Amino acid sequence: MPTVEYYIEAVSSLHTDKGRSRYPAVTKHRAPHKPLLLLSVLDLIDERTIKENLIELSPELGETFSLYWNIVMPPDKKGKIVYPFFHLRKESFWHLLPKPGKEDILNSTHEISSVYRLLDLIIGAKFDDEFFHLVLNKEQRKFFRSIIIEKYFDDSIREQLLIQSKINVDSYDYSIKLLRKNYKLKEAFSAGDDYKEKVRDQGFRKAVVTAYNHRCAFCGIRMRTPDGHTVVDGAHIIPWSESHNDLPQNGLSLCKLCHWTFDEGLLSVSDKYKIITSRRLHSNENIAGHLITFDNREIFKPSEIYLWPSLLSLEYHRTRKFRKK
Ligand SMILES: [Zn+2]
Repeated sequence: MPTVEYYIEAVSSLHTDKGRSRYPAVTKHRAPHKPLLLLSVLDLIDERTIKENLIELSPELGETFSLYWNIVMPPDKKGKIVYPFFHLRKESFWHLLPKPGKEDILNSTHEISSVYRLLDLIIGAKFDDEFFHLVLNKEQRKFFRSIIIEKYFDDSIREQLLIQSKINVDSYDYSIKLLRKNYKLKEAFSAGDDYKEKVRDQGFRKAVVTAYNHRCAFCGIRMRTPDGHTVVDGAHIIPWSESHNDLPQNGLSLCKLCHWTFDEGLLSVSDKYKIITSRRLHSNENIAGHLITFDNREIFKPSEIYLWPSLLSLEYHRTRKFRKK
């Protein structure tokens, strides 16, 4: 049976691409894909999103991976989770689980750049059972996380990666609380605490987009990729700065255009949950496109009635933010 030392050696000697021009000093000029994927998996075990030894290529995993990626890589370099998810199979402790009948194609595939192509071939991946058992233990997770961070990232960025890991787990917990029926907001968040702001922000967003199943409440668009990209934001109805209210009932899941239009007061919602459009949308210089067709149409609401937007919050928006003309 492999020992702890065996896995320490295994995660410390990942096969990664190297290149001074391709990867920055903070990643020690090595491709950060595999270490970041492993950190993301450890976070999802912390959250208990992963409870069994089955690691799915889920949007939650993709989103966590992206959050880490954005810390270590320049903004013009896009991180694709499909690469490490596939290529980790070169490491002894990571096993792709082919869908029935897809074993041969998976074995003969050497490169893959599309998440959808990979999802067509696999159910997910798993760790060695011994390794999974090890990292189910909180202390061991912490230990392996620190090994990965020390081995693959420069000293200057390590603290930030550890903090991101805490933010990921704490914001997930916060979102679960927010989504509870009859949850009373207790958290006293004060502005200026950077850590808490990030937890709040990420937690609120997760709660709202989960409540609406990643669908825009106004136009109905729903686009979500396993790379963790989603078209919608979590928008506060009464701004947080005024309400300190992160309950999903004070939120709407909105795509970028609808979010902007709502914040500008050009769209609002009636007490019958119908969209109202500002006359400004119809002014001569505006070409409001499909937005004007929303008038008097019902919004897309969460399936759980208790998560529907609060009528008080909507009234606030109509009377304080909405520009009738
Ligand atoms: Zn929209």
